Amino acid sequence: MNEPLPSAFRQDQFLSVLSREEALRRFAAALPMGPLGVETVLLMQALGRVLAADVVAPVDVPPFDRSGVDGFAVRSADLAGGGEGSPIPLRLNPEVIACGTMPVVAVAPGTATPIATGGPLPRGADSVVMIEHTDPGEAGEIRIRRAPAPGQFVSFAGSDMARGETVLRRATVLGSRELAMLAACGIADVIVYRKPRVAVISTGDELVAPGGTLGPAQIFDANGPVIAAALAENGCEPVFFGAVPDDEAALSDVLTRAYTQCDAVILSGGTSKGAGDLTYRLVGRLGRPGIVVHGVALKPGKPLCLAVCNDKPVVVLPGFPTSAMFTFHDMVAPALRRLAGLPERDEARLTATVPVRVPSELGRTEFVMVALVEGDDGIRAYPTGKGSGAVTAFTQADGFIRIEALADHLPAGTQVEVALFSPHVRTPDLVVIGSHCTGLDHLVGHLAERGFSARLMAVGSLGGLAAARRGECDLAPVHLMDPATGAYNGPELLGALERIPGWRRMQGIVHRPGDPRFEGRSATEAVAATLADSTCVMVNRNAGSGTRILADRLLGGARPEGYFNQPKSHSAVAAAIAQGRADWGLAIEPVARALGLAFISVAEEHYDFALVPARRTRPAVQAFLEIFRLPETGEALRALGFTPAAT
Ligand code: AMP
Ligand code: MG
Repeated sequence: MNEPLPSAFRQDQFLSVLSREEALRRFAAALPMGPLGVETVLLMQALGRVLAADVVAPVDVPPFDRSGVDGFAVRSADLAGGGEGSPIPLRLNPEVIACGTMPVVAVAPGTATPIATGGPLPRGADSVVMIEHTDPGEAGEIRIRRAPAPGQFVSFAGSDMARGETVLRRATVLGSRELAMLAACGIADVIVYRKPRVAVISTGDELVAPGGTLGPAQIFDANGPVIAAALAENGCEPVFFGAVPDDEAALSDVLTRAYTQCDAVILSGGTSKGAGDLTYRLVGRLGRPGIVVHGVALKPGKPLCLAVCNDKPVVVLPGFPTSAMFTFHDMVAPALRRLAGLPERDEARLTATVPVRVPSELGRTEFVMVALVEGDDGIRAYPTGKGSGAVTAFTQADGFIRIEALADHLPAGTQVEVALFSPHVRTPDLVVIGSHCTGLDHLVGHLAERGFSARLMAVGSLGGLAAARRGECDLAPVHLMDPATGAYNGPELLGALERIPGWRRMQGIVHRPGDPRFEGRSATEAVAATLADSTCVMVNRNAGSGTRILADRLLGGARPEGYFNQPKSHSAVAAAIAQGRADWGLAIEPVARALGLAFISVAEEHYDFALVPARRTRPAVQAFLEIFRLPETGEALRALGFTPAAT
């Protein structure tokens, strides 16, 4: 008979999984409809706030007729018929009207008064002539070379804003231009909607605040800062209550304080199997109606929990940062914006095609982050996701696409609508798609100094070659070994692409320093020693990687313990060995050294660039190649542990 699993491992069933639309409907129905209330803030503090009342100009702007240029206040009738060839002399009145000076002398026929930009127009004058259109005349005289139309260069009182005119309407978000209007009207206090104060609580025994030190099995709290920032972006005032362990008393205490002090509470974590139903039970007790949605057919984001407790939204976002962000923006932000009095967010969108097949789960609305690159015939949207636990996709992506619940994949070439993270689409100057290497980061860093933006997409060597053949990138970094010959990146692989020799990276056996099974031995001896010791655990690499080919060659058909642990990166191999989950594996030297591990050289791998010939003349490609040829670059690559190819 099977032992029942301890309660921490039982998955708490979702009450019922709702469609995205039904979940949004239930949440909206349980919430109060409009903003929370109004308050008065000082003009200087009003940036980004939402006007709660129409603003009527209390004064005329400008308050008096004023000159728009430096010149002379005149009577236009005096100058009719004048021109470049026949300047008309006017007698100068004995005053100069500066800004802030009230004129005392009227402009009588045949006279003019010097006036500065912004000076009040004197009695009698009806227009202003620019100083550039005049010449000094006899003493006490000015000669005018233009005939002004009545009203020329005069801003009349109230012509900008007239007293009593509605100049801003409620629900307007105050930016610097709106603040300028309010200031010009003399308004010092502004009536705005009260900002919702929203509590942010991260939950999990494993969380450490950024800036702290990670212990074994701990991770940094990414959700706290990102949710707080997303709240601020959506008109709310975040109040961070910290990361709380998965402990009933501790969580209950923080949750109660947060709920009492704030208008809404956003928790994250405690939603997947493991932590049990702690968070939900506590949330459900806060007030009525309580939990209205528990489980939504979204990917990522299924475990989302939406509650309303005595008119306050209380939300439990999934723990993984990407899931937390998508569910926040899609399901929670619209409700919070209504509380803040903000209009719906209008996302910038554009149409693109997906260059690769995008798998999707049937029955769940799926969000897929994409990076945009220019293809030969339009914009391509590349999926950038590394799974819901990854955060890098956020900064590498330009936006996301939504795959409807009824589709199980998008075929390559499908047209999609991309919702952009920012209103400006900026396709990068240089696109590099293929295998990643820290040496590449160094080169690209220098490209930025020359004003070129670059995008690196790590999709592996084969994915890079495919993208290069489709003309979606400039360069594809590759390290593909022909298992038959041991040669790298040969013409049979590159076809019409041009090979730019890159650098070589030493691959070898990685182990903890001092391990007698490896210390002082050659690679072949070390492998023989590990095979003789049944307690020795290896960490392998994924099939298709160059490193795997090398590992299989060394093992000669043996399958030691750990052979089927097959992560996809050098870093993962080194981490497993450093943390003692494995004793040895194959990786490149710089990665091993970075973790203080020991290294036995095995073979050099060639990391080259496949260049799309049609793109060779692009300025960013030229700059990349130039930087690559600099002696400093060679030195820097050597310092990182690489051997630049002889050029
Ligand atoms: P949970 O919903 O608590 O089971 O968490 C699901 C996953 O998200 C786990 O891998 C957690 O470690 C991770 N996670 C939870 N909260 C955070 C957070 N604040 N920052 C980063 N990762 C988190
Ligand atoms: Mg947790």
